[in-house]
Amino acid sequence: MSLLVLNNVEVVYDSVFLAVKGVSLEVPKAGLVALLGANGAGKSTVLKSISGLLAAERGLVTRGQVTFDGEDMRVLDPPARVRRGLVHVLEGRHVFGHLTPEENLIAATSMHPDRAKVKRMVEEMFTHFPRLAERAKAQAGYLSGGEQQMLAIARALMTEPKLILLDEPSLGLAPFLVDEIFDIVRRINAVSGVAILLVEQNAVAALDLVETAYLIDQGRIVMSGTAAALAANPDIQDAYLGGA
Ligand code: ATP
Repeated sequence: MSLLVLNNVEVVYDSVFLAVKGVSLEVPKAGLVALLGANGAGKSTVLKSISGLLAAERGLVTRGQVTFDGEDMRVLDPPARVRRGLVHVLEGRHVFGHLTPEENLIAATSMHPDRAKVKRMVEEMFTHFPRLAERAKAQAGYLSGGEQQMLAIARALMTEPKLILLDEPSLGLAPFLVDEIFDIVRRINAVSGVAILLVEQNAVAALDLVETAYLIDQGRIVMSGTAAALAANPDIQDAYLGGA
């Protein structure tokens, strides 16, 4: 069975606005999957329905199932979902600006009292993300956008997830940095078997990274398939790949 299964999920904001209209999707164990779509299509809302962060935004899953590792997620609060191995890297990074990268990483591990293990994990993150090692003692608020994005991903990895929900990591980054971050994501997936559900507006970069993808438009999945099939689809090329 797939690691993550969404079945007919509906999300309503403020009791009135139907932002997600019956979304079904799957992420296999150790899979790399993208959820693509334009601004406002409902991508971030789908991720929040999975991690449980909707409540803070007056959003509610009103219908459908969110099943992770065979377990119904809707009854669990966000921290409990993190403990099950489901972690969400929000759009816009959200690192602790006054802490160093190292302190940011340690802050994610309060459930690991094993200090030796935490130290090992921090070192492992610095090998995955050498740029962070170079800035280990700087305040995270002064890191570049790309470095902050790397730190946000590294901090998520400190929770030892089975699945990372990664919201728009390419946002505002130069193309070479997008490549660098996607290379790291690819390597983490290959080496550690962490599954990734990637939300992106940058369809070109995303389809190059993932195995399968879903396209969402106005809250509905309108297309899905292998990355190669989607990249070859003329409608996708016109709308999302610049007619490439
Ligand atoms: P973007 O790429 O711009 O982040 P998105 O595809 O992630 O877009 P969502 O952020 O999920 O889209 O938004 C989907 C719809 O829900 C939009 O119409 C948006 O205005 C609305 N929406 C999002 N968050 C809220 C909220 N907290 N309250 C009310 N409506 C919201």
